[in-house]
Amino acid sequence: MYQKILVPIDMTHLAEGKSTLDVAIEHAEESSKIILLNVVEDIPNWVAIQLPANIIDVSLEHTAKELKAIANASGRSMEVEARTGSSYHTILQVAEEKEVDLIIIASHRPGLQDYFLGSTASKVVRHAKCSVLVVR
Ligand code: ADP
Repeated sequence: MYQKILVPIDMTHLAEGKSTLDVAIEHAEESSKIILLNVVEDIPNWVAIQLPANIIDVSLEHTAKELKAIANASGRSMEVEARTGSSYHTILQVAEEKEVDLIIIASHRPGLQDYFLGSTASKVVRHAKCSVLVVR
């Protein structure tokens, strides 16, 4: 079984994120560690200069709080990570850094056809060094 499971969730589609987390809990043993991750996307410089200087810090803080609330509601102890960067690159970076053995990711945002693999999900599947479970 898998000992360290990374669950990246998109905060704009929380219902799907929570279902992905449910799948992770089903695949986890009691001793397995689950890491819940959201990546706050980098803001292009030309946009950032028009926004408050601490916008990323505020977003990271808010995201970490939301992730903790989801973790608490799941009734299982888990680590939460809010990072900034490009989503797929950061997901792969955290997976390597934390030496996870499974990434569980939703196939795409809701509302798109079943055969479609989203842009983040497809890059994670292609480049991850560990197993990836894609939830449809
Ligand atoms: P689409 O291209 O249809 O928007 P994505 O591939 O971006 O689909 O999203 C599929 C899944 O990838 C999400 O449900 C989530 O699991 C993961 N994901 C996407 N963006 C992020 C993000 N910023 N932080 C963490 N996970 C993400």
